[in-house]
Formats: sequence, C-alpha cells, structure tokens
Amino acid sequence: MKKFEKQEPKTYKVKGYELRCPICDNKYFRTREALLNTKMASFFNFDWANRAATCYVCSKCTHILWFFGE
Ligand SMILES: [Zn+2]
Repeated sequence: MKKFEKQEPKTYKVKGYELRCPICDNKYFRTREALLNTKMASFFNFDWANRAATCYVCSKCTHILWFFGE
C-alpha cells in the first residue's frame, strides 16, 4: 500500500460530477478511507449508512471533502 503523501493526485468523479475543491478550485485530490466511529455516526444520524467514508484531500490547499457510503 502506497503512503498517502506519496499518492499521485488525480481527478475524481462522484455520482457523475467532477470533483472540484470549493476553496481553491483545484481538481486534483488524494483519497483516503475513513471509518466513522458509532458515536459520530449516531450524532450525524448516519446509523443507516455504511460507516465507511471516503475522503478526498485537495492536493493544493488540503481542504477535505467527505462522502459517506460507497
Ligand atoms: Zn483546494
């Protein structure tokens, strides 16, 4: 498994939409899988959802976009 920092930033699509950073308008991201703990999932009322989230980290400004499920 490649180290996160060594990952080559790529463009991604979510539900058919091109991913774009809302802060710096960059289109290149690195991905990371995150597991939500039950407490946090309950807090956000995501008990019904898959507790794994995918994070896309902007390669430019490091803003993180989170997506639940999939
Ligand atoms: Zn950005």
